[in-house]
Amino acid sequence: MPPERGTERPKRILTGDRPTGRLHLGHWVGSLAARVKLQYEYETIVIVADLHMLTTKRTRRDVEQLLPNVRGLVLDYLASGIDPERSCIYLQSAVAETHELHTYLANFAKVGRLLRLPSIKQMAHDASMGDESLPYGLLGYPVLQAADILLARANLTPVGKDNLAHVEIARELARQFNSTYGPVFPEPEPLLTDIPALVGTDNRGKMSKSAGNAIFLSDDEPTVAAKVRGMFTDPKRIHPDVPGTVEGNPVFVYHRIFNENRSEVDELEERYRAGKVGDKEVKEKLARALNVFLGPFRERLAIYGNKPGLIDEILWSGTLKVRRIAAETMREVRERMGIERVWKALRDR
Ligand code: ATP
Ligand code: MG
Repeated sequence: MPPERGTERPKRILTGDRPTGRLHLGHWVGSLAARVKLQYEYETIVIVADLHMLTTKRTRRDVEQLLPNVRGLVLDYLASGIDPERSCIYLQSAVAETHELHTYLANFAKVGRLLRLPSIKQMAHDASMGDESLPYGLLGYPVLQAADILLARANLTPVGKDNLAHVEIARELARQFNSTYGPVFPEPEPLLTDIPALVGTDNRGKMSKSAGNAIFLSDDEPTVAAKVRGMFTDPKRIHPDVPGTVEGNPVFVYHRIFNENRSEVDELEERYRAGKVGDKEVKEKLARALNVFLGPFRERLAIYGNKPGLIDEILWSGTLKVRRIAAETMREVRERMGIERVWKALRDR
């Protein structure tokens, strides 16, 4: 049953990332481009999920990196066109109600269900954690995610296919909570942004920062040019007059996505297939196109990067706003659960 409250307000989206490093073209294709658009249609809350980072990265070194990583992530959001006037960006750990709701929801979450999730297995594998060393915190990753979504009473969460199961868990937990204690939470709907992952510059799987095959949104022109020069292309082409393969060739994959000059791409593909263009020219044109594409990002990076304190102010005011939303949600949660009544009895004895 949908809650009586909350139906009047515009639909709210919750989306975000773990602050584990700077954002790259893969993030743009996979999530950022959609978020920038969605902020004009929905009330958008962007979470900087540092508590989720801690489920796999919690050493002293990891936490020392937290502040620069958080600032870098927010700067990349702003560079991408996330507008702080439209979207509210907040720091997860600074909203303490997250922990409280997570604890209540944890009593509904089934361990067997969580253990079977391929996403948890993958994260444990990536962090070199075996079955015996799987932390309780990492197992609860989707429950913590549900706490974020439900705390904000978000109606929609944009996700890729690999994260769909997490939204399903959030929906189940909302249903279970609502049917046990009363209607507090809207059931969040997934907004499937199912785009195939962007390949890395080395053509070995998807672009990711830890694989060293990423072009970052904050890379400068010479860095982009150097990365493009080093890109993997068709290995059969030892000479420019050897006919080449365009399909699955990362240089052409990037041309197709990022080069605004469609006729240049068509023409390059044709000449490449016919063995009438060298890799050097194709790459030079790609570097130029990527630098054109990244131009507006760099302008915004310069604006926000030149105003010390502005990023912190944007993040903190967003956090204060989410604290107000969270306080309201939790007051209702405790009331429905009867916990508020217990507190009141003790307080007003
Ligand atoms: P790491 O190397 O530490 O795993 P990463 O660069 O792969 O980092 P993540 O933090 O794992 O970045 O990615 C967060 C989300 O960003 C993913 O769930 C996915 O939605 C999106 N994403 C990351 N890389 C890509 C990519 N190459 N193509 C499309 N989407 C991507
Ligand atoms: Mg990754």
